Amino acid sequence: MNHVVLRRFRRWGALLMLLGFMLWPVQVWAWGSATHAHIADKLGASAGPANLNEIYGAMALDTFFYLFGVPYGAQLDGLAHYQSMKVWQAAQGGDWATRAVAYGFMSHNDVWGADFTAHHQGLYYGVTNGYVIAKTAELAPSYAPLAGLGLPEPVAMEITHLVVETGVDVLIQTLNPSIGHKIMAATQQRTDQFPALLVQAYAPELIPPYSDAASLIYGAEAYFKNLMYWYGYALTFPTDTAVQLLAGQFADLASLYLASYGIILPLSKEEITFFVSGFIIEAMKLCRLDFAQEIDLTIAFVDGQLREHGVSPVPVPASLVLLAPILLGLGWQIWCRRS
Ligand SMILES: [Zn+2]
Repeated sequence: MNHVVLRRFRRWGALLMLLGFMLWPVQVWAWGSATHAHIADKLGASAGPANLNEIYGAMALDTFFYLFGVPYGAQLDGLAHYQSMKVWQAAQGGDWATRAVAYGFMSHNDVWGADFTAHHQGLYYGVTNGYVIAKTAELAPSYAPLAGLGLPEPVAMEITHLVVETGVDVLIQTLNPSIGHKIMAATQQRTDQFPALLVQAYAPELIPPYSDAASLIYGAEAYFKNLMYWYGYALTFPTDTAVQLLAGQFADLASLYLASYGIILPLSKEEITFFVSGFIIEAMKLCRLDFAQEIDLTIAFVDGQLREHGVSPVPVPASLVLLAPILLGLGWQIWCRRS
């Protein structure tokens, strides 16, 4: 963090503090997208198109988080996290791919799914408040440039929370080296039925009723799918480059997020990216010795919970198992052409 950037952070700190207290919502992702993808990779199907649909579904429970400031956005995000069973129920009439994407979706939920260990009750660390919450409380005071930014407490904690999730997502590369490619392939392979599943599950639940709910949900899903493609792409690179690319994405999203509450950071994207990348590296240092234990225990926990709630993986037709390598090869070719 250079001195010019720090001075600018301090100068605007008081204004941000005032705005932040008035406008900042309490909203969190819990685990990051690559962590959810890794967990789903280890649950249910172990390879092939069913596995890729499970991976996509596991990430996609956060689809509505990105509707910053959009009417019904927060309501849809809450419905997905706390009433995920509606998607599983809607999927029961569907084919194997629809049920696989719904199985992954269920693995993420905040009531008894993976998010539970992130911000309610950790199984290895943060047993009283959740792994990510505990790490956030440790990291926030230790990263000096954050204090220099002068953000109000809830804002600083929210940013720190998201940085911890991103840091763990980068660390997931060490457990699952091809996680970036799997995420990219998942965005290409997810069943076309998935957006309709979200509409069926959540459009009727909106209060007050919203006649254009379907187009809002379709739009949000398309945006999320594209976002995850590039998230996966960042994670195909070695750690240093991955951190830089994810920090750049984070900077864009953070600016949009803040702007939806009337907060405009007087910093360039390069300055924000610089701040975020240093922060992600600190988060990785803080989590690197215990994240794997927490994730392994979370996988076992979610596996048990899914069984207990009658959510089981879907057997895939044998012909598709044979086709899987061809489909993956196709995905790889699409990626090579686009990159
Ligand atoms: Zn979530």
